Amino acid sequence: MSYCDICGAEIGINRYSIGKGRWICPKCSHLLDSKKVGFFERRRLSTDDLKAKIMPQINSERIAIDLAQNRIQQFLRKNPTKIDDFFWFSEKDDLFAIPEQQFVGGLFNGKKEVVDVRVYKISNVIGYKVIEDGITISKGGLGRAFVGGILFGEVGAVVGAITGEKKENKKVTELRIDIEMNDTATPLVTLSMFTKGLVMSTDNMTYTYYLENLRKIASTINVFLKRNESKDCGVVLDKFEQVKKYKDLLDSGIITQEEYDKKRKELLEL
Ligand SMILES: [Zn+2]
Repeated sequence: MSYCDICGAEIGINRYSIGKGRWICPKCSHLLDSKKVGFFERRRLSTDDLKAKIMPQINSERIAIDLAQNRIQQFLRKNPTKIDDFFWFSEKDDLFAIPEQQFVGGLFNGKKEVVDVRVYKISNVIGYKVIEDGITISKGGLGRAFVGGILFGEVGAVVGAITGEKKENKKVTELRIDIEMNDTATPLVTLSMFTKGLVMSTDNMTYTYYLENLRKIASTINVFLKRNESKDCGVVLDKFEQVKKYKDLLDSGIITQEEYDKKRKELLEL
């Protein structure tokens, strides 16, 4: 085992020589590339000089990694329900998280690891679309266009039908869910089930695995939507109840017609 001369990380066979007995890791080599420090300069400069050139980047990267680890740990402390490492949620905290996965390690001993999480409010979810190669295969949502609940019925049925079509073996390059949010800062949260550009055969076990997890995610979001919808209904009922109360106050002569009209207008947003 040897160590990177610049950042001190352990390095295996994937290392770069910067002169006799001096090695650096791929990440430092990449950073030196970005600073246009080429083959000859690497050998000419001392380790300290090389360090000075890229240490700010290494440090800011470390800080970013630490912060990301913090976010992950914070969310895990909520004991979230996990749909594999695709979708985590904690209903009591009104939060869901999309873990960012990355392939870490070498070509043969590498594995997927969660390197960061994006965290959002469950109560802000207003809809979703499941998209396969640009085509919406299932969707659901709140609001006027979706009165009564979910278009296209239960997502499980739709996706189930697709998994059932084993005979038709397609190639798919994109499988994702777009979650629509009632939040101007993040109106759309996208979760891709696999790296865009990979080609998946629909008869492949891996694809079935992605689709199965996506079905679970969509079903969970359907539950969120039903909850959020009943909350909206609650607010509406509340408004009418309040108007009724003001009507009682008017009828018993406590408030004037003018005051009642004003309140009624306000509450019903007329
Ligand atoms: Zn290094």
